[in-house]
Amino acid sequence: MRTIDLSSKTALVLGVANQRSLAWSIAEALGGAGCRLAFTYQGERLQKNVAALTAKYPDAPMIACDVTSEEQVEGVFARLEREFGRLDILVHSIAYARREELEGDFLGTKLEGWRIALEISAYSFLNLTHHAVPLMEKHGGSVLALTYLASQRVVPSYNVMGSAKAALEHGVRQLAYELGPKNIRVNAISAGPVATLSARGISGFSRMASHHRAKAPLGRNVRGTEVGDAGLFLCSDMASGITGEILFVDGGFNVMAV
Ligand code: NAD
Repeated sequence: MRTIDLSSKTALVLGVANQRSLAWSIAEALGGAGCRLAFTYQGERLQKNVAALTAKYPDAPMIACDVTSEEQVEGVFARLEREFGRLDILVHSIAYARREELEGDFLGTKLEGWRIALEISAYSFLNLTHHAVPLMEKHGGSVLALTYLASQRVVPSYNVMGSAKAALEHGVRQLAYELGPKNIRVNAISAGPVATLSARGISGFSRMASHHRAKAPLGRNVRGTEVGDAGLFLCSDMASGITGEILFVDGGFNVMAV
């Protein structure tokens, strides 16, 4: 029987806030396959939470990283170089937009709100991947981002986050092209709504989730663990022929018209 064995691999997972985080579901799937993990946390507010969760991986470095701080980003990769000497998998599960940009109309989006959303949710993916390449290029690797259908279709209130996801998905394709020769694969999962901390910050999230449930061929919302399993697949050699791909894990919602 063929199983996924990541016991010779290392992964950096960014974006764990609590046990509902999609980053945590992906980390659990990777950890279950034997992967050696490293985590980041955003600021002191989340440090305790993340430390309590990740205690089950006692050898996993836990490193402070707000992606708007270049110093912290550099610190993450310096530590990984010291502790792992290599990196096989990078999971980017980070997004943020100010509340005022997620309420009301897109039309009134302020430049600062646009800048913040695009910097944290899309530029950070490019920047983190840039830092990861030196640790990946000798043996190849896999980079994974999390996106949402609002990159391509209109979702009321998603506003500037739709712009950020469109930029992120473009980044997946462009980096897949540039890093293919180094055998570094770059993919994203487009997840259906899962009730996480960030998702709850989107106004009308529960209506959005029930609309997905009603319209998706599977007739339900997806579970975080299903996103985790798809992440494990994409990051493993089982997906060695896949790069530049946006894989929908949404119960089939995206294929529906009427
Ligand atoms: P979450 O709140 O658990 O995770 C978001 C993470 O982003 C948090 O850990 C937060 O600390 C981190 N973050 C925000 N600003 C940061 C910064 N400046 N520096 C470092 N980290 C920062 O929510 P989630 O739903 O698990 O979100 C993870 C990813 O999944 C996001 O990209 C999100 O857009 C995407 N996604 C979520 C859903 C959903 O319904 N939950 C659907 C599709 C895509």
